[in-house]
Amino acid sequence: MSDCLFCRIVEGQIPSDKVYEDEELLVFKDIAPKAEVHLLVIPKIHIDGLNNLLPEDQQLMGKIMLLLPKLAEQQGLDTGFRTIINTGKGGGQEVFHLHVHLLGGSKRLPFC
Ligand code: AMP
Ligand code: ZN
Repeated sequence: MSDCLFCRIVEGQIPSDKVYEDEELLVFKDIAPKAEVHLLVIPKIHIDGLNNLLPEDQQLMGKIMLLLPKLAEQQGLDTGFRTIINTGKGGGQEVFHLHVHLLGGSKRLPFC
């Protein structure tokens, strides 16, 4: 999906501040951080959002869930962290490529 911002980041057409990458997932810093640590975890394949998940995405989504606490530990978020998935316009989703926000390090954490 060449018109998708996050697909273009995956393809390297738009730069990002990468924190983690493997065959299936990419993690980079949010360009407008809402907390001291604000990462975005995305699948490399294009999925619009939670509403578009298929049964075969189950393992991929599980992999994201298991990665989140590891990332939080690497970022020094030893007292905890917040994860947010916005779904659809009514849920505040602005980029329609599934992503999990990982936030932490602030005394008061915002919603995204
Ligand atoms: P959402 O509202 O859940 O769709 O979140 C989209 C997020 O993507 C926002 O927090 C933006 O700050 C972030 N964002 C937009 N463009 C970029 C970019 N080029 N690199 C990193 N993060 C971005
Ligand atoms: Zn995409």
